[in-house]
Amino acid sequence: MRVEKKVEKYAKRRGWKVKARTEDGILYLEGEVPSYKEYVEIGRYAGKQKNVEGVVNRLKYKGKKEEKRKEGRNEIIGEADVVIIGGGVTGCMIARELSKYKLDIILVEKAEDVACGATKANNAMVHTGIGEKMGTLKQKLCVEGHKMYEELSKQLDFPYEKNGMWIILTKDSFADMPIPSFLGNFIARFIIPRIILRRAKKLGIPMYIVKRKELLKEEPNVTSRALVAVYSPTYGVTSPYLFTIALAENAIDNGVKIMLETEVVDMITEGGEVKEVVTDKGRIKARYVINAAGIYADKVAEMAEAREYTIHPKKGSTLIFDKDYGNYIKHSMTILKFPRTEHYKGGGAMLTLERNIQLGPTLMEVEDREDTSVKAAEIEQIFSHFSLLLPDLPRKGVIAYFAGLRAATFTEDFIIRRAKKVRNFIHVAGIQSPGLAAAPAVAKMVVGLLKESGLEMVEKEDFNPYRKANVVIRELSIEERKKMVEKDARYGKIVCRCEGVTEGEIVDAIHGKIGATNIDAIKRRTRAGMGRCQGSFCLPHVAKIISRETGIPLEKIKKNGNGSNLFVGKAKCLLEEKNEN
Ligand SMILES: Cc1cc2nc3c(=O)[nH]c(=O)nc-3n(C[C@H](O)[C@H](O)[C@H](O)COP(=O)(O)OP(=O)(O)OC[C@H]3O[C@@H](n4cnc5c(N)ncnc54)[C@H](O)[C@@H]3O)c2cc1C
Repeated sequence: MRVEKKVEKYAKRRGWKVKARTEDGILYLEGEVPSYKEYVEIGRYAGKQKNVEGVVNRLKYKGKKEEKRKEGRNEIIGEADVVIIGGGVTGCMIARELSKYKLDIILVEKAEDVACGATKANNAMVHTGIGEKMGTLKQKLCVEGHKMYEELSKQLDFPYEKNGMWIILTKDSFADMPIPSFLGNFIARFIIPRIILRRAKKLGIPMYIVKRKELLKEEPNVTSRALVAVYSPTYGVTSPYLFTIALAENAIDNGVKIMLETEVVDMITEGGEVKEVVTDKGRIKARYVINAAGIYADKVAEMAEAREYTIHPKKGSTLIFDKDYGNYIKHSMTILKFPRTEHYKGGGAMLTLERNIQLGPTLMEVEDREDTSVKAAEIEQIFSHFSLLLPDLPRKGVIAYFAGLRAATFTEDFIIRRAKKVRNFIHVAGIQSPGLAAAPAVAKMVVGLLKESGLEMVEKEDFNPYRKANVVIRELSIEERKKMVEKDARYGKIVCRCEGVTEGEIVDAIHGKIGATNIDAIKRRTRAGMGRCQGSFCLPHVAKIISRETGIPLEKIKKNGNGSNLFVGKAKCLLEEKNEN
């Protein structure tokens, strides 16, 4: 049966009026369904069909919000060979890769800093690719990307470690399957580890089996119901924002122009080509456009008349534990549980570079592309799921939680290709996990696509692959610290007591190549406010330093973007106003 008929039949059986049509491998859905839930359900069904390269879901449902496009400005503010839309890890990695060539490149980012989308709200794991579906583009790029991290971290001076990952099977791994427990335990102990090893061998990932006794000796807090583990020693962890900032800074050094607080609102197309990218600050003439807009990639593609997919955000919430619990486990770990539903994405107890355990993430379809709330029910869900792995991990250890949105398309894989009908527009969409790990390989693929599409790419003789990070005082020896304090006394003044961050480091972050001008931007660069007290002590001090160094009035300092003002005004002003009345 033809794909369109199959999808229409699926809808009809449920009483929904859906018309499906295919053009150039893209399946377009029109009609109406009762709610967002069914909108996602049919989209997913359509996305699973053979040979469907993208699903554009235009179905209406009750309560669907009509979107208004922002007004753009008309003046020309730039001209570039390549305009990259989005300053997440994907956009910044592409910018850095393209900066090796003699090209004029502009990256536009609507937020006030780079790494403000999914890139700031993930688990920082540099996956090896073993957890991804075999044969997918995301797996291929993850395997390649993972291999490139070591070299990149040396060149760009961002933190990266191979801390390893335990994949653990327990007596609960098959408890939800309709099979007797002895059979479930047998499959968990003997079959699954071997399947994993076989896959690892195919992918060239070193992995080995660890027996229960050895596992519990090494990780005594793991559940006693554990049966076996498969260990992946090359699993990595990085800092997604320090990595992205490093990429952006190095790209700037090599001639890329980064325009922050610049939102793409439209595109001028003519004869199947984008001519200009329209932003809220003005227009940019472009020879090629790369869409790395994350959760908004489908909206951006629509602006270029190149919509070939619909993004349906999947929220992931994570709990963060105090560093005091950093020795609770030695390595990051995950539990395998079956049946693995289509949208199951492992998660686990993952260690950050600073040895905070991260527990999560959850997976939840959300309609609102800005919904990064963490609900009590999600926290309960995390504790309940991972108590199967670490049953006694104390709740009181949690110091923070966050949520990020995965930019999922209905076909689930990364969509990295030239637009079908717009000659100079490249999609880099559907970059959900492992987008961080895959980013270096994604950028290489984009270079290939640009070459293919006719852009002449001549390598620069003077490309500088190196970039130096700012000093981190807590990582220095006493002698080294003394020297820094002699140079500048501000390196001796601790502002964030939990993380040991000094005033000097905060000043460096403010005056960096991409200057930090709000509290969260400082936090991402220095860790000020990331400790146990979550900024209760240092926030006012950091705000004062930002104000002093940038000239922004203290009462205008924000936590992050627009609408996150920390202060309403000066208390004394309010008193004066009262007296005047
Ligand atoms: C909970 C969670 C955990 C994850 N864990 C991992 C992990 O451990 N390892 C891993 O490899 N991956 C992980 N991922 C996936 C990873 O975070 C993403 O794949 C990656 O960050 C995507 O980067 P990006 O640059 O494509 O998107 P983003 O970081 O979202 O960047 C897109 C940028 O585009 C900008 N933008 C959007 N629209 C416009 C516009 N109109 N004009 C200008 N700018 C615009 C946005 O402001 C944003 O900054 C996780 C994701 C989530 C949600």
